[in-house]
Amino acid sequence: MSNFVWCHGPSCHKSHTQDRIRGVKGSKVLRTRKVPITGFSGNTMYSYFCSQGCYNDFANKHVREVIAIAPRLEALETPINVVKEPARDWRGNDYMETKIIAVDNNGG
Ligand SMILES: [Zn+2]
Repeated sequence: MSNFVWCHGPSCHKSHTQDRIRGVKGSKVLRTRKVPITGFSGNTMYSYFCSQGCYNDFANKHVREVIAIAPRLEALETPINVVKEPARDWRGNDYMETKIIAVDNNGG
């Protein structure tokens, strides 16, 4: 059982870094990086990508397919209360602060 996955970045193997160089003289290649499977990364983007850049490349290349998994056809709304409260900034000036307070509507 392997303890890594290959980075899913579509251009990972095109980045000019020394750690990607493999092969013998005369037939060198840049190879996709391995991403170690660790408990630390859990099941996040870092479980499948070696870097933020590789994640961005993948997301930008496949954005239509990704959105098709859970398309947003309507706006979502979160019930809130808006409260104005007097406050003082770091210079000592008084102002009215707008506070947004979440409304608990029983798990809605
Ligand atoms: Zn990568």
